[in-house]
Amino acid sequence: MWELIEANRRKSLILFFSLGLTLLLLGYFFGSAYYPDGGGFIGMFFAFVIWGILSLISYFSGSKILLAVSGAKEVTKEVHPQLFNIVEEMKISASLPAMPKVYIINEAAPNAFATGVKPENSAVAVTAGLLARLNRDELQGVVAHEVSHIVNRDVLFMTFAGIMLGSIVLISEVFLRSLWFGGGRYTSKSSKSSGQGQMIIMIVAIVFAILAPILAQLLYFAISRKREYLADASAVRYTRYPEGLASALEKIANSTEELKTANKVTAPMYIANPLKPKGQKLSNLTSTHPPISERVRILRSMSGGANYIDYQNAFNKIKKSNLPIIPSSGLADQTTIGLKEASITPVTLGLNKQTKRDTGDIMMKVNNYSFIDCSCGLKIKIPPDFQKTELFCPRCGRKHNLNS
Ligand SMILES: [Zn+2]
Repeated sequence: MWELIEANRRKSLILFFSLGLTLLLLGYFFGSAYYPDGGGFIGMFFAFVIWGILSLISYFSGSKILLAVSGAKEVTKEVHPQLFNIVEEMKISASLPAMPKVYIINEAAPNAFATGVKPENSAVAVTAGLLARLNRDELQGVVAHEVSHIVNRDVLFMTFAGIMLGSIVLISEVFLRSLWFGGGRYTSKSSKSSGQGQMIIMIVAIVFAILAPILAQLLYFAISRKREYLADASAVRYTRYPEGLASALEKIANSTEELKTANKVTAPMYIANPLKPKGQKLSNLTSTHPPISERVRILRSMSGGANYIDYQNAFNKIKKSNLPIIPSSGLADQTTIGLKEASITPVTLGLNKQTKRDTGDIMMKVNNYSFIDCSCGLKIKIPPDFQKTELFCPRCGRKHNLNS
């Protein structure tokens, strides 16, 4: 397992180096365009400082910010015992050093993500809509996928690569805007030839400022898509049940709700791209996630076993390519890990009345609502700011004492 992380880390370092170089070059061009005499190095220095500050902030409070932005609330075992059991199971299967914190997001759209730059201090967040729709096997598949991201250090990678990408986008935008609003005030007037040289630098700088964010994004997305496949493969290894994740992904893909709290920066963190492309399908290159239908087909064609080699074989078969998705150290382990027998559960797609009601219940629980089961069969929901000590059932009129 450690070798797998190592191989993963090497590839991340290459990406890191390329993004870092792009960032510094961008700073250099920015500086040179305004101050031809040594301004390039000042620009590089500032680019590095901006990246450093953003990285420090995200390393120390990135999880907190992400969880807050997405409206996730930490919950206790009482709110959703099944979810806690599953997270505990997956913690053991993946040999995580500590139990991840469990968060629920008050949204009807089904989705999930993991945070935590260190496996000792991680969190798994799922939406209320996900909990209401998925059965136990499916939920286990999703949690296993998220725990894989923690184990494979994807969160650490996504955070830093994401910040670097963000810095590149930010600096390019500032530079291009500064040109728009009357740039070039600081041009040196020493000689005609140096003026011409500066013109060339300016053009190169503009072209670079336009291309750098696009290239950086493509690079970042390519690696993040690969990491999704790897997390799917690890999830199967932990659960030994590819159908659970496959059917969960299908349900997530079939939902029509939009995740309101997701944005461009947080999108790669989710199990499925939360930003539904408007109108036509997003092209493969510009997507943070591989197409769900493809992930499902790969999972469903795993027949030999639950090991990494079985996932890679299924991947090759479906994609008709030999792209190594699993690092070679992961493939070296040829032990047969048997698949779990399929449990017979009725497949219900779409959103029925019960799902809607369940979603509401989970959301209210997360918001500290309490519940009273009246003997007439009605479940009475009590908001957290309810002041009175007694309450009458709106259906049968029975009196309930609230002693808390
Ligand atoms: Zn994922």
